Amino acid sequence: MKNDFKFSDTSVKAGDLLLNENPFVYVLSSKEKGLRCDNCLQKLKVLKCSGCQFVHYCGRVCQKEAWSGHKWECANLKRVAPKIIPDAARMLAKIVNRLSRGDGHTYRAYYTKTSFRMWKDLMSHYPDLKQDKKRMDHFTSLCMVLFEFLRDISLPNTVELMGMYGRMVINSFTILDIDMNSIGTGIYLASSIVDHSCGPNAVATFDGKTINIRAIQDMPSLDWNQIRISYIDLLKTPRERQTELLENYYFLCECDRCIGDIQTKIIHAAKCPNTKCDNPIKIPWKNCELVKKSMDHSKNNGIENGDSNKSEIKDSECSGGSEIDEIECSACGSKCTDKYIEVYKKAMEFTEMHLQKMKGSSVAYVDVCKFCLEKQEGVLHPLNVLHAQTLDHAFDALIQVQLWEIASIYAEKLVHCFKFYYGERHPLLGLLHLKYGKILLYKMDLRKALEQLKLAEKILKITHGDRHPLYKEQLLPLLSQAMIEC
Ligand SMILES: [Zn+2]
Ligand SMILES: [Zn+2]
Ligand SMILES: [Zn+2]
Ligand SMILES: [Zn+2]
Repeated sequence: MKNDFKFSDTSVKAGDLLLNENPFVYVLSSKEKGLRCDNCLQKLKVLKCSGCQFVHYCGRVCQKEAWSGHKWECANLKRVAPKIIPDAARMLAKIVNRLSRGDGHTYRAYYTKTSFRMWKDLMSHYPDLKQDKKRMDHFTSLCMVLFEFLRDISLPNTVELMGMYGRMVINSFTILDIDMNSIGTGIYLASSIVDHSCGPNAVATFDGKTINIRAIQDMPSLDWNQIRISYIDLLKTPRERQTELLENYYFLCECDRCIGDIQTKIIHAAKCPNTKCDNPIKIPWKNCELVKKSMDHSKNNGIENGDSNKSEIKDSECSGGSEIDEIECSACGSKCTDKYIEVYKKAMEFTEMHLQKMKGSSVAYVDVCKFCLEKQEGVLHPLNVLHAQTLDHAFDALIQVQLWEIASIYAEKLVHCFKFYYGERHPLLGLLHLKYGKILLYKMDLRKALEQLKLAEKILKITHGDRHPLYKEQLLPLLSQAMIEC
């Protein structure tokens, strides 16, 4: 792949491509099986591999390109059929294969003209892994699948295999399609040098299976130690983000957004009872304390029981002033009556329960979301995280059922939430402006449509670049349509 690396002493502009890379190994998710090409991951008309009848390709070019990596897998998939091999097991098998037969141990992924990373440079977090019951159970079950699946390949010993598993789970990227939906998993050796921040200065997007890492801020020079992307969904409380990062990546995030008080003030805030005041009010609510830093004790606590770090991630109630004191707005002095607090708590509980329920299913329900939003009306702050999550679900659900009128009302509100949680330059904010603009075009509200599409353009140019299909094939046609009709 051609890669014009930036020199480390030249300054970086927002939108600059810092790295693009093809995966070391990758798999198409099984939910996309038969819908996309297993090689290029594009959504095209595909044909089954005549050998295994399991993988699909969009044409001869992709089939040929994939063959050297698929040959060993093809025979094994055929042998175990109709048994389905889980995605994670296929991924681990591909790693084993690439390392044992291919160029796996010598392959270099460059991130500057002279610096590169190899498979062995990935972190395996071996000690953390060994104490993580959930992951160890997962590993054991994958091993059982592998023994059957790779009968003809001599597997590495358990320690080695666990090292591979650790590198796999810690360093995997979720491959996203043009709408930011997950379609697969890949390991990118060079890109995995980038650490996490909840307020990142770079972003990873995908074009097919290729990862692109772009700067979203200007920087005086390119220092890879300072580049940060987000590993997780940011529309969450700092505590939830910390917990997720600790459980999945074994580190405690203490970035400005997690530690600072800008988010903690607002995440669970109530609206001021004074309708003219938009100051957030903190009413005591559970689970908002930050995760405490006591990693050194991790050996003696819950990790061994599988509830990794549970002793630090306890249920807690925020002490936003003592319970007896009256809660009042720090800006206008309006008091929250007991009844108001009661309504707030009911709305929070109700929403939390339904969001939890929707998490399990892939569909969001319009009526459930609307019902939650009605309960939240007038008591939850517009940037309250539960309100934002409900709007997010509602917006998706409304698009599914093509209720454009309400969808556009929610989109308007959601923009503010996305800016607050994701930041001003985030692919999801760009995508939201694009979807909102598209809806306004349907509604023939041309002036506003153009405004939204221009906002989308500004963001997507930075996060995706003007050659990405989302920009070129989705945004530009809408933009020119809006301009012609305007
Ligand atoms: Zn293809
Ligand atoms: Zn095959
Ligand atoms: Zn953080
Ligand atoms: Zn107020």
